[in-house]
Amino acid sequence: MSETLTKLKSHLQQVTDLQNAAAVLYWDLEVMMPEGGAAPRARQLSTLSRIAHEMATSDELGTLIDAAERELAGADYDSDDAALLRVARHDFDEATRLPTDFVAEFTKLTAESHEVWAQARAEDNFSHFAPYLERILEMTMRRAEYLGYTDHPYDALINTYERGMTAAEVKRIFDAHKPALIDLIGQIGEVEGRVSNKPVHQHFDTSKQREFALWVVEQFGFDFKRGRQDVSVHPFCTNFSRYDVRLTTRFHDDFLNPALFGLMHESGHGMYEQGSAPEIDGLPLAGGTSLGVHESQSRMWENIVGRSKPFWSWAYPRLQQTFPAQLGSVSLEDFWRAVNTVERQFIRVEADEATYNLHIMLRFELECDMVSGKVAVNDLPREWNGRFESYLGVTPPNDKEGVLQDVHWSGGMIGYFPTYALGNLLSVQYFNAALKQHPNLHDEFAVGKFDTLRKWLVENIHRHGRKFTSQELTARITGGQIDPSPYVDYLQTKYREVYGL
Ligand code: ZN
Repeated sequence: MSETLTKLKSHLQQVTDLQNAAAVLYWDLEVMMPEGGAAPRARQLSTLSRIAHEMATSDELGTLIDAAERELAGADYDSDDAALLRVARHDFDEATRLPTDFVAEFTKLTAESHEVWAQARAEDNFSHFAPYLERILEMTMRRAEYLGYTDHPYDALINTYERGMTAAEVKRIFDAHKPALIDLIGQIGEVEGRVSNKPVHQHFDTSKQREFALWVVEQFGFDFKRGRQDVSVHPFCTNFSRYDVRLTTRFHDDFLNPALFGLMHESGHGMYEQGSAPEIDGLPLAGGTSLGVHESQSRMWENIVGRSKPFWSWAYPRLQQTFPAQLGSVSLEDFWRAVNTVERQFIRVEADEATYNLHIMLRFELECDMVSGKVAVNDLPREWNGRFESYLGVTPPNDKEGVLQDVHWSGGMIGYFPTYALGNLLSVQYFNAALKQHPNLHDEFAVGKFDTLRKWLVENIHRHGRKFTSQELTARITGGQIDPSPYVDYLQTKYREVYGL
């Protein structure tokens, strides 16, 4: 290895180490820290982030990247070194486009806004949050200008979460499946009495829930020698290397789904990180390539595997043994239907597979309209409720269950939401590609065998880390681009059986 490349790797590794150290502190804040630790922890996090940002934008790094680009010109596109250099160039350019003062001001504003939003949501008072959202929007527009775009300022925003994606492309993908989803939900609405979700709404001892859910994700292939699970208010997955991946869960003693399917979901994110190639660990090349691809992994294990009948035909007897009083007399068929119930409810994070993308489309449309000035912040509650009614046939009773429900806007994360829906679409496209090579996957789930699927994911997605962009990866796997029709087919097939449509 050349001296330049050795120096570049060492510099990048130090930046990654600082970021991972900050991630440990953040995990600790969410999982372990006593309330009193908040102020010093915020300072510690800010110090680490500042040093990491300085190193990630230093002239020294810029010079090293320039030199390495000259040395590696013409190198094999798929090689680790060429890929690392592409990622380093991308991250450096993105980080240096935003002035340091701007970043500090935006961080301060979003920290304040988060508090205000939490209070506004608790009090169901949008007008309290509105002036902060105005300022966030104004700074977000400046952020888009700094980052740069060709067609629409929204392109600059979504690009930070899903590289290469544009507002026009998201709109095309969403428009192509919105009518089918609205139609499907309408059909289900006519026969909704056929399926009951009562079996999952009973008293379930949380320690037994935990034991069962941990067993499931261990069978999926999450490696507990390189990971652990803890409790937090908002479930998440974080990691500090491929050797240390943390999942968190929240438990409800009167509802089985949040912990069980939540842990399957987070384990999908976790296995992606654990599956990253050892050679790239500790470098910015490691880890998920985009939020959409990351979400495709969590959704695949949570929904395509975890809500499938073959999976439950294997796992249900054990769940019945765990909760004999609650589930002893509930048939496999009724339980499987219960975990696949479709509800027109107001909260995105609790939405089922059929309604989920509509929740996202609503947010995407409002974000685009806000960014292009078509919708004023003060009109958001009315616009939200009107669109919600037209997509889902019901109107949120208040803003708490409407426009104020999500944390993202208060954190300045405009452009983030579409990645959830893209993840749903990709999960089915990737799974279908795996199924093409291994047609017996469902039979394997029915006997508790998941390693064929997991190894396929490692080989085709996980090990590459950020080597390929989301579009490149999708083209390699499917031969095409992101496409909503496999997702619609998957939903129609599933709900035909669940609801007898
Ligand atoms: Zn997720």
